[in-house]
Amino acid sequence: MLAMNYRGPKRVRVDKKPEPTILHPEDAIVRVTRSCICGSDLHLYNGLVPDTRVGSTFGHEFVGVVEEIGSDVTNVKVGDNVLVPFNIACGKCAFCKQGLFGNCHEANSQATAVGGIFGYSHTAGGYDGGQAEYVRVPYANVGPTVIPEGMDPDDAVLLTDVVPTGYQAAEMGGIQKGDTVVIFGAGPIGIMAAKCSWLFGAGRVIVIDHIEYRLEFAKNYAQCEVYNFKSMDDPVLFIKKETDWMGADVCIDAVGAEAAGDVMQTITGRKLLLQAGSATALHWAINGVKKGGIVSIVGVYGPTDNLVPIGNVVNKGITIRANQASVKRLLPKLIKHVQDGLIDPKALITHRVPLEEIADAYHIFSEKLDNCIKPVLIP
Ligand code: NAD
Ligand code: ZN
Repeated sequence: MLAMNYRGPKRVRVDKKPEPTILHPEDAIVRVTRSCICGSDLHLYNGLVPDTRVGSTFGHEFVGVVEEIGSDVTNVKVGDNVLVPFNIACGKCAFCKQGLFGNCHEANSQATAVGGIFGYSHTAGGYDGGQAEYVRVPYANVGPTVIPEGMDPDDAVLLTDVVPTGYQAAEMGGIQKGDTVVIFGAGPIGIMAAKCSWLFGAGRVIVIDHIEYRLEFAKNYAQCEVYNFKSMDDPVLFIKKETDWMGADVCIDAVGAEAAGDVMQTITGRKLLLQAGSATALHWAINGVKKGGIVSIVGVYGPTDNLVPIGNVVNKGITIRANQASVKRLLPKLIKHVQDGLIDPKALITHRVPLEEIADAYHIFSEKLDNCIKPVLIP
């Protein structure tokens, strides 16, 4: 089969690889029909996630058709059209039982803090992902969900990650009616978090980025205010001025590791810890939120990144909430929101690219070219 093949930072291509096979009675094999590239893949692509091995296949946002099932699979059958949550979760461990499907204890034999994720390095279990013609889906009684009759597959593929992550970003913010919510990052996740903030009763939603076309998109899609941080002296001062010097009620980090770029360039090699720098979105979030406010972090960082200015957290009494999205927990509600027209996920898809042209797709998405918001690969 054809599959994405990681060759090292900023080097990806498509190669022939053996088709996956059933390794466990609870496995399924899915023939992929659509597979997105995510901002999370860019951390891998940029070499920021430890133990990302050459030869691995990325891709944790995909939909497709069940081709084969193991002897213990009962929840899906051959021929079903399924969407597959990005988290690989056993459904039985103490964490899954609490609804923490992003923190499954069984799906990641490394027993690092994160659970299993498709195509997300050996720190997330070393599973191959769905930027390929076929993918092995472990614990197939838990994750894969039959796509409801009539649902557009473009909506379905964004229900595997972008919609639940944006929603959970807003949910973790504990938004109260009338709250001012400031979101850093106008990528698919930040835009979806802005859209979902209104569902929790926000009174004002402000998205901050430095890429004009993305801010314009966020403004139209989520009906929010937008600000370009390159045109401000200091985003924290801006937030203070906008909130009568109180600070935002809720700040959301929908950026992650790349925002620490200024800091990273001063160190050699990723093996050193990423140290705190004042120019990160996370710092702006912590410094821009009000005393007693909530900072919700969905931006992804490497396991040992060390970026929290803890003194400001303690002295302001800030609550920090963060996690990988728990897709399976949120799916029933979010499928309904899409069916009811409260969320229109497919509007985020700007690029459709054959799998063979994956290198171009990564380049365009990574460099924010050609007005790209969300690219989808078609195997
Ligand atoms: P993206 O790369 O498309 O968007 C990130 C945006 O942040 C870009 O538009 C960039 O210009 C902007 N940005 C960079 N530095 C900034 C700064 N200092 N302040 C404000 N904006 C800044 O990525 P995406 O797909 O939207 O994903 C966003 C983040 O969410 C990534 O870190 C990704 O790994 C993470 N993510 C987390 C989960 C989860 O479950 N927690 C799931 C999916 C994605
Ligand atoms: Zn993703």
